[in-house]
Order: sequence, then C-alpha cells, then structure tokens
Amino acid sequence: MISKHEKTEDMQHDELHEECGVFGVYGVEDAASLTYYGLHALQHRGQEGCGIAAMDQGSIDTYKGKGLVSEVFHDAQIAKLKGDIAIGHVRYSTAGGNEIENVQPLFANLNHHKFAVVHNGQIVNAKELRIQLEKKGSIFQGSSDSEIILHLIQRAKGDFLTRIKQAFAQLEGAYACLILCEDGIFAIRDHNGLRPLSYAKLQEGYIISSESCAFDVLSGEDACDVLPGEIVWFHLDGIRKDRYCEAHSSHMCAMEYIYFARPDSVIDGINVHEARVATGMCMARKDRESGLKADIVIGVPDSSTSAAIGYAKESGIPFEMGLIKNRYVGRTFIQPTQRQRERGVRMKLSAIETIVSGKRIVMIDDSIVRGTTSRRIVQLLKEAGAREVHVRIASPAITHPCFYGVDTSSFEELISARLNSEELCRFLKADSLQFMEIEDLIASYHSDALCVACFNGQYATSLFSYGDIIRTYRFKQKKDSSK
Ligand code: SF4
Repeated sequence: MISKHEKTEDMQHDELHEECGVFGVYGVEDAASLTYYGLHALQHRGQEGCGIAAMDQGSIDTYKGKGLVSEVFHDAQIAKLKGDIAIGHVRYSTAGGNEIENVQPLFANLNHHKFAVVHNGQIVNAKELRIQLEKKGSIFQGSSDSEIILHLIQRAKGDFLTRIKQAFAQLEGAYACLILCEDGIFAIRDHNGLRPLSYAKLQEGYIISSESCAFDVLSGEDACDVLPGEIVWFHLDGIRKDRYCEAHSSHMCAMEYIYFARPDSVIDGINVHEARVATGMCMARKDRESGLKADIVIGVPDSSTSAAIGYAKESGIPFEMGLIKNRYVGRTFIQPTQRQRERGVRMKLSAIETIVSGKRIVMIDDSIVRGTTSRRIVQLLKEAGAREVHVRIASPAITHPCFYGVDTSSFEELISARLNSEELCRFLKADSLQFMEIEDLIASYHSDALCVACFNGQYATSLFSYGDIIRTYRFKQKKDSSK
C-alpha cells in the first residue's frame, strides 16, 4: 500500500478528495449503458479511474481504465457489456495506489461462482486483515483495501448471502459496496453509515447509487437509503433486506454535505443544497450579531455557492459572482514549483475586477485544508481591488485527519492543526476569519447523526494501526504544552 505522501504532487493540492462513487443497475435492459450515465453523474467523486462489470447469461464482463468516464468508455466498449445487471465505479485512491489493478470493479471466481465488487470508503483494519489473509495463503493482485472484501468472501462458508455477512462483519471503517453475482446485486453499507448509499425504482428494476443525483438523471423513483449495517439484495423476486450486524448510531460524514456531494443529492433524508444554504444563514446571523458590514457576498465556486446564497438571503447583502472557475483546467495539472502552483490557482479561478473592486467582501468557502489556496484567493481578490475580504468557512476548522476515505491522513497537512483562527487569519492576509461551530453545523442540518471526527477527533470506530498517528500527535501536543 503506498502512503499518501508518495502520491504525485498534483494530487497533494489544497483540496479534499473523496475516493469513490458506486452505481448499479438491476433488472433493466442495457444496464451497462445506464451505469455509464450513472457514473457520469458521480464523476465528482473520483476522476482517476472507472469501470463497469455487467452480467449476461451467468458470465461477467468487465471493462475499466484510468481516466474520466468519458475518456475510458466509448460506444464500442459499452456495446460489449451486455445484460440487464451491471455495477460501476469511479475512483480516487486514498488507500492503495492508482495502478490499473486497483481500478474497480474487482473480480473473483469462487468455485465457479463469479462475482464483482465495487467499494466506496476506507477499511481501517485493512492492514491487519491483509496480514491475516496472507498468512492463510491469500494472494493479492493490487494494493487496494477493497481487495480484502474478495478474499474474505472467498474464505467464508455457506451460501453467498451468508458469506457476505461473515465477510462484512469483520470489516471496520467506512464502506458502501455493491457486489454483482448470478444471484443478483447486494448493496451493503457500513454499520456507522459513514458513506452514503441509496436505491430507487427504475422501470421493472432498480438503480443503486452513492448519491441520489444519479437517480434524477435516469428518472429513478421512490428513492430509499440503504441503512447502516444493512444488506439489500436485488434479485429475481424483488428486494430482500437483511443485516450483517446491528446498526451502530449513524455517523454520516459531515463533509459529504459540506463539500463532496452534489447539491442536488439527498443523503439520509437531508437535501445537500438546503443544508449548505442553512449553514450560510447561520454564519450571517452570527455576523449580524457582531455588526460586520459588507457590500457583497461571494462563494468560492462551486461547492460554496449554496452557503453564499444562504448568507446573502439572511443578511440582505447581495450575492455576486466575484470569482469565476475555469472548468477546463487539466485534471492532472502538475505544479512542481511555487510559481507554477500560483499560476495554477490563477488558471482555475479569476476574480472579476468590475464586481470586487472597492468592495467590502464576505467570501464564503466550504473548508480550509492546507490554507494555501484560500490565501491565494484572498490575494486574487485584493489584487482585483477588494477593499476588505472577510473569510467565512461553512464548516468547523479541520484539526484531525480522516481515515474513512478522505485523503487527509496526517496532522502536518492540516493548517488548523497548527494555527488558531487569529494566526490563520494573518496567514490568509484576510480582514477577518470565522469558522462554524460544530453545534451550529448540527443545528443547520437538523441532524446529529454525523461524523465530525476531523473537527473534534472523536472517531466513530477504533482506528487500528492508524491510531498510532493520533497517539503520536497527542503525545507531542502534551509534551509541547508542558514545556
Ligand atoms: S473524519 Fe471528517 S471527512 Fe472523514 S468521515 Fe468523518 S466527517 Fe467525513
């Protein structure tokens, strides 16, 4: 398994990355073609690679490659994937490298029972399970934690559903999985509900997706969430619901609402756009209490737009398009020098001088990771003539790494783990900086069934070998504070 520090520099830029999205079709003609459209709708969840596995007359055909859905798939490949059952995947690697062996679906042949797996999330006891499996003779093809699922199913006993239950009961961490086999499709969600997974009716069959935005594209109806700890089995007679363990209290990743998910998705009953608008309104109320005066509100496109709209709505300060995003900047843009990195931000974002010049601006952003991008955006606005830039972050400060499928694995890369708000404000060269409080986030979403571990360090599971990172950090903190 490669560490995140060994990834190429373009992957270490100052943004959070989700690792994957999954999509499946059961019992609908041209399932692979529908999966292609579903994956398109989930492209924001992973751009490194993608793949589709389709089942036709008991055999599974898979096609996958590195790149965007539109780059990997053309009509000819889709046409070869026949049948009315298919699963697909878009990948961003947080565990395992981006080699082709790790691009999903992963395929296995279990005593002539073929199956394919797609997985979104991160298994935190992967290292321990892999060592155990290798000792028992399992041979791994790649470095992805998802491959462990295949080996656990292979080593389990009983019918396929029983094997799945045995396998998933051993996993700890975050996962939304689809398994395709001749018995149908199994949709499985981790017992803390850290990653989203839902399904909808389509014609005589079903579609299953990491996010409900894909249902709208295909006119899916009656969307429903797979519950934490649940297995939903789509088969010839319809749906069967089962569990592989009791649900723990639900801990949906708060970052799905803040940043990752598309605003038109509904996750665990919460509309993402509305949740973001509510956070913007909350920030505006706080600023009204503190007497902040501003001329315009702008959002850092695209994920901060909803919160900026909410801020403007509550404060009465006009929302303006002060920043424009160039959507066509190369995905693999490599930035080896500081000057090139700065040029990279300028290529990606432009400040509109006629809008921002001479203005006191409230700039809404969704989160701050390393701080370098936020600093450059403040600089862009000031160079375009902004009189004041007040940065408002629609999430609490990220002080802890994520081990559940988001690519922040160390304290060093998180600026809020090192600097308090005042220090960070000076670093950004902003006129003021405010984060949301965790309680305000929960109140805005009307839900406390959230994982907020990257804001407060309270993880939903044991972290197994990753726990050393936290222990070392806390030990160092204690030592520093006693000096
Ligand atoms: S630690 Fe943060 S990013 Fe990771 S699952 Fe929890 S809320 Fe999401």
